[in-house]
Amino acid sequence: MAALKITKMALNSVLALMSERWDVFVPSPSPAPGGPSGFRLFEPRPMPAPGKPGPSERDSSVNRQTCDEDTLWNGTGQGGQKGRDRENHLPEERLPQFLRRVLTVKPLKELFFPRSEPILGYCVDGAFGGNGDGTGVSVFMPEGVLPGKPRVVFGARPCDAASLTVLDRVFADEAYPDDFYISRRKNTIIVGLGCNVPAPTCFCPATGGDPFGTAGLDVLAYDLPALDGDGSSQGHYLMKAVTREGEALLGFLSEAHLGEGPSESDERACMALEERARKAIAAGLPADTQSLGRVLGGIFNHPYWATLHEKCLGCAACTYLCPTCHCFDISEEPDPGASRSGGESPKGGPERPRLTGVRVRNWDSCMFPIFTLHTSGHNPRPTGLERVRQRVMHKFYYFPENFGAVACVGCGRCVKYCPVNLDIREVISHIAALGGTGVAESISA
Ligand code: SF4
Ligand code: SF4
Repeated sequence: MAALKITKMALNSVLALMSERWDVFVPSPSPAPGGPSGFRLFEPRPMPAPGKPGPSERDSSVNRQTCDEDTLWNGTGQGGQKGRDRENHLPEERLPQFLRRVLTVKPLKELFFPRSEPILGYCVDGAFGGNGDGTGVSVFMPEGVLPGKPRVVFGARPCDAASLTVLDRVFADEAYPDDFYISRRKNTIIVGLGCNVPAPTCFCPATGGDPFGTAGLDVLAYDLPALDGDGSSQGHYLMKAVTREGEALLGFLSEAHLGEGPSESDERACMALEERARKAIAAGLPADTQSLGRVLGGIFNHPYWATLHEKCLGCAACTYLCPTCHCFDISEEPDPGASRSGGESPKGGPERPRLTGVRVRNWDSCMFPIFTLHTSGHNPRPTGLERVRQRVMHKFYYFPENFGAVACVGCGRCVKYCPVNLDIREVISHIAALGGTGVAESISA
């Protein structure tokens, strides 16, 4: 597979070139100050006037101290707030530094399974559906729902990319294919960025992942630090193709002479980064999740759930920000302004009513009581106990049973953003320990 090394100072040029062929998405702070960060469309900067410093030159003036890993991830830098994602609103030319943040607040899934999306438009002519007089119902696809131009995501972390392989099992399933999701997946090339310094909340190896894992990726990039006297003030990105699509992308960049092939010392540097990251992350791992289902199958009625749920507020932050959670609700949103403008009836009578609207799919969460509330008023998950248990059971027992993989990639977002510090790593280890005591077998017996 192909590999290409570019200087970090050339990143803006690389992204700008890619923008000619693809819509390019990059990790970014929210356009609204203080809002959560996610992925957004990269907008190429105009080329500088002759004699003026361009983005490449200005890159070298970035103050690393104010953009370091600690500040970007933990918010512990100057003026930061511990435990919160202190946004750094970096201008475009500082993008390479922004890529040093470990994870965006909002997960990559939003580019494939949007938080809210219209899936159907409709127009009902006549008396709300009656068509005895020649009127009727028409259904159409709302404009702009599906991406037209192919897309590239640059800088997705391996856990986020791996989450797509979880979502594929649900939305790209042969029996129930989701055309919206599938078309976005087919339309997108993903360039991942390995994690040189995993965050304290990361635990991907416990879920089968790796800080430099390639699941779900087309290209994996390594952030190679600057070496003394290498002529670059910031170092390089070394990109390695994982799929044929990734190879084609690197070929496109290579033809534009925007990089060069890696040397043997680059390969050694990549291996050293991998080794260091794996060693760092290994220190704080919970129990392995791959065999948790065996224990969970036996502790449905264990008293642990009664204590675990007590501090949960039911805010659903853990599920909305989770890259693998995929529950949704569908609602009809009629357009009241258009409901009385149907025009004259075919018989020349008074204006006939018309109803237009859209059917919208929205993220939902098993942490809300209304999620399972029946029309009858009965709720099979009436309290937090059942809901918290469901979240854990689904990720580590039901999903592996149905799809052969745990529905967690160890990104740590739910750990970081839960307002009451309900830490899923502790839950995992506690359940694994229950298995060790044999309690699972005794309760299920
Ligand atoms: S359960 Fe938590 S750690 Fe696992 S993928 Fe979801 S947000 Fe990340
Ligand atoms: S983020 Fe924490 S408090 Fe909110 S629903 Fe999830 S576990 Fe409960």
